[in-house]
Amino acid sequence: MDEVELRAREWLEERGVTQSDIAELVYFLQKKYHPNLDMQDCMENVDRVLAKREVQNAILSGIQLDVLAEQGQLQEPLLSIIQKDEGLYGVDEILAFSIVNIYGSIGFTNYGYIDKEKPGILGFLNDKESGMCHTFLDDIVGAIAAAASSRLAHRAQNTE
Ligand SMILES: [Mg+2]
Repeated sequence: MDEVELRAREWLEERGVTQSDIAELVYFLQKKYHPNLDMQDCMENVDRVLAKREVQNAILSGIQLDVLAEQGQLQEPLLSIIQKDEGLYGVDEILAFSIVNIYGSIGFTNYGYIDKEKPGILGFLNDKESGMCHTFLDDIVGAIAAAASSRLAHRAQNTE
């Protein structure tokens, strides 16, 4: 595992997101379509998505901006926009699309759905009372789960 992949995986954990948190989102998205789905399948698909360089780049870029915003180290007006997670900003979602894109259009459906429902770890990341800034990370985590779900769905179709 190279430096970029190692750091991307470490930073996720340091920001409070484990691989099994994301696997639970995949389970949430896919359980109704695959009755025999287990957490091991979900974990495996998340792991394969995390191995992609586009995903690692998005993780490092997004978390870096969240952390700098948390520490007040960005310049205005960007600092306030990211700190407040302003609804019309949208760059956090654009960055997440670079992850969703990898496994095709089914990923967008999954991403939209999970972004609206905010199950599991996404609820934690959206809690504005935590004092942490997760403007980018919530979209990135939702996108990783959506991409892993698409990967799982494509593979299931080829084996069923
Ligand atoms: Mg966001």
